[in-house]
Amino acid sequence: MDPVREMLGAVLDEVRGEDGGATAQYIPELASADPEQLAMAVVDPRGASVALGDDALFTIQSISKPFVFALALDELGRDEVLQHVGVEPSGEPFNAISLEEGTGRPANPLINAGAIATTGLVPGPSARERADRIVAVLSRFAGRPLEVDETVCASEAATGERNRALAHLLRSYDVIDGDPNAIVEAYFRQCSVLVTVTDLAVMAGTLAFGGRHPVTGEQIVSARTARDVVSVMTSCGMYDASGSWLIRVGLPAKSGVSGGIVALSPSQFGVGVFSPRLDAYGNSTRGQLVLERLSEQLGLHVFEQHRAIATPGLAVERDDDGTVHVVLDGELSFSGAERVLTALRGVRRPASDTRVLVDASAMSQLQPAALAVLRTEVEALGGTVQTTRDGADATA
Ligand code: GLU
Repeated sequence: MDPVREMLGAVLDEVRGEDGGATAQYIPELASADPEQLAMAVVDPRGASVALGDDALFTIQSISKPFVFALALDELGRDEVLQHVGVEPSGEPFNAISLEEGTGRPANPLINAGAIATTGLVPGPSARERADRIVAVLSRFAGRPLEVDETVCASEAATGERNRALAHLLRSYDVIDGDPNAIVEAYFRQCSVLVTVTDLAVMAGTLAFGGRHPVTGEQIVSARTARDVVSVMTSCGMYDASGSWLIRVGLPAKSGVSGGIVALSPSQFGVGVFSPRLDAYGNSTRGQLVLERLSEQLGLHVFEQHRAIATPGLAVERDDDGTVHVVLDGELSFSGAERVLTALRGVRRPASDTRVLVDASAMSQLQPAALAVLRTEVEALGGTVQTTRDGADATA
């Protein structure tokens, strides 16, 4: 058996006995979900995915919020979006009236008030057109056409007075433009999009890999947008339990009241989990346990110390004419540049005019300030830094 599948299967088995919490009670269609369902999927940067557990389709709910925020950021730019919604943890439940005094700006885009404000930023002359655009972008993140569960959507609309009230409040502060009812209707549709854990893993992966879809290779949003969204997920993604989540699990994540959670390990992989019983904060009880165990077992906490970033690969070769070639690979971070320079100072040069060629063309990432430091020092030695294979210096 594939070792990854085996390891993930063992994690699911470990948490299966946990039966704390209850399905979301405030939306009738969610309340009646089978509470025993449990599933997870993981996708890596090359798009390979592993899915285990129940083959379930469930509504995306609040997990749609970071992706709609991404759409707004990419279309309108950060400055414009931040005029309408903040990026501060609210420390309050998802449906709280967390609006900034004076401006009425919601605390962040991952609570309902902020999500409704963000949905209002997506252009659309009618509720349906706005919702269609949102469903289209969620589908691009997932890499397949997603559909709306009309029954859940009707159930949301039937019990959504608080969200309507939030939308009207936002309208009173001019945080949203146009008809608040139409915006909240689009928001209900966005929450009712059906997904699988593999969809969630791929969607999270797209954010983990700088906005690039791991399967199709399509750039869905800019790397800057993906980074902004992941930042907000890190501080606000798990409702008012986001702080303890960061300490315990340390993965940017977003949960939803149907029992789904997306999480990601930047540059490494995207994860989707699903199990409908929720704790008092509205986060899937078993879903959290799965991610907690995964993070522990694989050392995934975002603030885990990584030595490799400070240690680029380095090989020294000499030509017949005595030229010293220093071939680098991996990633050139600021601390990594310091290490390369120390190594260079130790390289024996038979004569003071021995040429030194530093070849950084195979490096996966070059931090500009690190490259500048490296170049200055190498040039002081009379050498050259090459950043492309044909020797031209792309970044010069
Ligand atoms: N449709 C839900 C609501 O707005 C989404 C809430 C959630 O998943 O947190 O009430």
